[in-house]
Amino acid sequence: MNEMEQFRQELLAACAAESVCSGRKIITGEGKTGQPAIMLIGEAPGAQEEQQGRPFVGKAGKNLDELLARLSLPRGELWVSNVVKLRPFRVSPRGTVANRPPNRQELAFFTPWLQREIALVQPDLVVTLGNTALHAVAGDGLVIGDCHGAPMAVSHPIFGRITLFPLYHPASIIYNRALIAVWDADVAALGSYLERR
Ligand code: URA
Repeated sequence: MNEMEQFRQELLAACAAESVCSGRKIITGEGKTGQPAIMLIGEAPGAQEEQQGRPFVGKAGKNLDELLARLSLPRGELWVSNVVKLRPFRVSPRGTVANRPPNRQELAFFTPWLQREIALVQPDLVVTLGNTALHAVAGDGLVIGDCHGAPMAVSHPIFGRITLFPLYHPASIIYNRALIAVWDADVAALGSYLERR
């Protein structure tokens, strides 16, 4: 069993014993590890991801594919994961199920696992999507509005020194159309950064 598979098994065992996971389906990261690798980190799986057992499939996967096409990056060259590895959901009074942001308990449980995952992947570059992933990697003191679209150095006791390139979460563009131009500029900046490396 390789180190990543061992990590996955440990994570699944920890989830099975953890009330925050309460028997839910766990969707772990996937892709290519080892340098040079890019690790892309989202917030949490949605309904499609829960159904298929993979991160970034369905609509979110389509958004990701569009991003990667603009960067001329095959998905197979990346490690793709989420901070929280289960689908956070709520049930409305009418009984419909909807996604919700991860809560404090979910973040507290999964963030150290993500940090260990980064240490194992040893990425050349980490790209976070949105505030949740930014906070899990670089701490709560930063906000995406202040640091999107540019590389920054992050040091951490678990994963060491990495280069982080924060982006807005693609879903935020759907809800805030004013962000489209910002997103386009950030993706172009990431493309130039990758070319210059
Ligand atoms: N799907 C994921 O796997 N992660 C996200 O952050 C959003 C959708």
